[in-house]
Amino acid sequence: MSKSLQAIRGMNDILPEQTPVWRYFEGTVSRLLDNYGYKQIRMPIVEFTELFKRSIGEVTDIVEKEMYTFEDRNGDSLTLRPEGTAACVRAVLEYGITGGGQVQKLWYIGPMFRHERPQKGRYRQFHQIGLEVFNLDGPDIDAELIVLTWRLWGELGIRDAVKLELNSLGTSESRGRYREALVEYLSAHHDKLDEDSQRRLKTNPLRVLDTKNADTQAVLVDAPKMADYLDDESRAHFEGLKARLDAVGIPYVLNPKLVRGLDYYSKTVFEWVTDKLGAQGTVCAGGRYDGLVEQMGGKPTPGVGFAMGIERLVLLLETLEQIPEEISRQVDVYLCAFGEEAELAGLALAERVRDQLPNLRLQVNAGAGSFKSQFKKADKSGALYALILGDDEMAQQVVGFKPLRGQGEQQSIAWDALAAHLATCVVQG
Ligand code: ATP
Ligand code: MG
Repeated sequence: MSKSLQAIRGMNDILPEQTPVWRYFEGTVSRLLDNYGYKQIRMPIVEFTELFKRSIGEVTDIVEKEMYTFEDRNGDSLTLRPEGTAACVRAVLEYGITGGGQVQKLWYIGPMFRHERPQKGRYRQFHQIGLEVFNLDGPDIDAELIVLTWRLWGELGIRDAVKLELNSLGTSESRGRYREALVEYLSAHHDKLDEDSQRRLKTNPLRVLDTKNADTQAVLVDAPKMADYLDDESRAHFEGLKARLDAVGIPYVLNPKLVRGLDYYSKTVFEWVTDKLGAQGTVCAGGRYDGLVEQMGGKPTPGVGFAMGIERLVLLLETLEQIPEEISRQVDVYLCAFGEEAELAGLALAERVRDQLPNLRLQVNAGAGSFKSQFKKADKSGALYALILGDDEMAQQVVGFKPLRGQGEQQSIAWDALAAHLATCVVQG
């Protein structure tokens, strides 16, 4: 195939055989978020480049090398959103809906774009579900975010495969003091650091903690620890969070090296990680960002949130074979009609049944065809039952009702009784 007719590398189609899992996942999450009182917000996919520079920070991987940035026809610099928090903060400020301390518990879903090296679990267009809460500054809401993800893993049957990692980055003052101590220590070991870390030491020193380089990791063993620099307020906040997780019985591990890639976090940071997907193991990540709204031009407004990667969670469901069987069956009943008169009667009958059973997944054969070919299609559709309208059935005003998955013999049902009969044998979603 010529190159221009292929999808862009790292940007995937989600094919009809894959969409049932996606819809199952998205449906489960959105129902859960409704139940916890979160409201959906939808932002544009494109924003001014400046928004991401200002919120995410100039010296982050995302802004330095991962953004899809272009000039539009007016000469404005625009960027395909690499994440959702920036646009969400922009939107709440633009519409004033966090003003006067109004609490907002919001969620969003959609594609994000980052120019990374595509590999399993890492793509250039990928999808996130994210939550952001504004104007609540206590550990209770941090805990709620974690509790609801814990429930989600339970509902999806993947709880045993994910582990919660926690850290506190302190307030910006205590982080500032820690940063100084870290820079002093690392500068004394400058020659033993890898090149990336040497660069980060100047631009974003906390990110050195995140390094994958073994030599740098060895240097870090004796480095100052964030925990020793936490101010009293952050310490109390962190204890409050841990007490709540303990109360619910959610296990966690403290990871002092967890700093997250983005500049704007403070106090709580967390990640849910799995060892079932290889290197791309973080399925959900977030934390508190009390300084962000102010940094973006608003009044000081506490915030906390997270984002989960849908591709990675779908991969995890597939890897662990935790996909309920019924989600891939998309047809309950398949109607076969033979001859024009039967087709007309069948169409009208199908609509009457749909009036009475709006959730029934009823497929009417299209494209006519012989007895054999229509039955083949009925079977292939995955339907549990076939309805048959031939000359005999037309004469008696009945429909043949044939179980396709081996539950009994074919029987005749009067047209008027069909909906009631179907209601007794098909469990409707
Ligand atoms: P990573 O360390 O894996 O690059 P990140 O810290 O850049 O992740 P976040 O910005 O916190 O990721 O995004 C939240 C979640 O979105 C991640 O935990 C992951 O599940 C998912 N995610 C991030 N980048 C990608 C990507 N390129 N492809 C697929 N999923 C992604
Ligand atoms: Mg990344």
